[in-house]
Amino acid sequence: MSDNGTERVIIIGGAAAGYTAAVYAARASLEPLVIEGFQWGGQLQNTTDVENYPGFPDGGIMGPELMVKFREQAERFGTRFITDDATRLELSDGGVQRVWVNDDEYRADAVILAMGAEPKRLGVTGEMELGGRGVSTCGVCDGAFFKGEDVLVIGGGDSAMEDSIFISKFVDKLTIVNRRDEFRASKIMLGRAKEIENIDFKTPYTVDEFVAGDDGKLASVRLRNADSDQTEEVDVGGAFVAIGHTPRSELVVGQVETDENGYVITDADSTKTKLAGVFAAGDLVDHTYRQAVTAAGTGCMSALDAEWYLRDTAPSPEAHWAGKAGVAQEGERAETVEA
Ligand code: NAP
Repeated sequence: MSDNGTERVIIIGGAAAGYTAAVYAARASLEPLVIEGFQWGGQLQNTTDVENYPGFPDGGIMGPELMVKFREQAERFGTRFITDDATRLELSDGGVQRVWVNDDEYRADAVILAMGAEPKRLGVTGEMELGGRGVSTCGVCDGAFFKGEDVLVIGGGDSAMEDSIFISKFVDKLTIVNRRDEFRASKIMLGRAKEIENIDFKTPYTVDEFVAGDDGKLASVRLRNADSDQTEEVDVGGAFVAIGHTPRSELVVGQVETDENGYVITDADSTKTKLAGVFAAGDLVDHTYRQAVTAAGTGCMSALDAEWYLRDTAPSPEAHWAGKAGVAQEGERAETVEA
């Protein structure tokens, strides 16, 4: 942080992209401040075995453990953390970047957006009402609560397959419900799910409603055959919605460029947004690969981009003289940007 209370770089988001950006920024002596979110760790926090993150040849690593390691590595080089959610951002083109966590305002010369993505919802009756009472978006978190029950997993992508493979270890019978006969999942994941004895497939079906029993918990799911339009009610103890994710760009929509799905748009081959001093990385940007290793990769790129930006850009007058919370501090000298 400079003398006047303006940070060199604030990183928003505490997961693969944000923590990797922090490791690089901290090692570049930028003393990053990471606003990591109340539930830091991102999607890996809800993942068990990670077998495709390089460097762990003997059986992989658990997702939450991997995130702890990322965080500790960032901390080791001087990263500071705020374990809360950013609530408002006021981004500028080359000026001071302003970030709020509730009533507390933080200012920075550069900001890295790494807020990730969150699970998509079906938007049908009972889905939200029965959340935590039979309907879940996280098989890895909740699968073990459904020991010996019949459950549905809705979706046909790799997330649905991964969740199903995990949940099938606990439940009696699991049915994957997909709205098309074809699956979006990779061949290898679909193949693995097909090999598991207690996994069945039901296609092409959509969900009309999650129905509660007298005890207020999920009792059944009303499904609709996408070809015949016939509906049927299936008794289940649990249902897992695994239909993809939405980027968490709500704080920056209208300030940086986003695509029709809300993903932040960056310049080709870089993490630069259209605003100078604002960079974006990880699943917030990536609707194609969405892997921990690719998020870490773009997190690294964002810190390097921020470092180059800070080295080449003189601080704005506002950053130079304005103290934290906008009060000019008389006689205070701003940090000199290294040449
Ligand atoms: P995805 O690939 O976008 O698949 C979403 C699935 O949900 C599709 O089958 C889609 O159907 C269905 N769907 C979407 N909206 C729906 C709705 N309203 N009603 C019913 N079904 C709906 O998302 P993902 O599975 O989360 O995977 C995202 C990325 O992460 C992929 O690149 C994937 O390979 C990767 N991933 C990899 C692993 C792994 O390798 N271990 C694990 C998880 C994810 P349609 O096909 O008809 O659109």
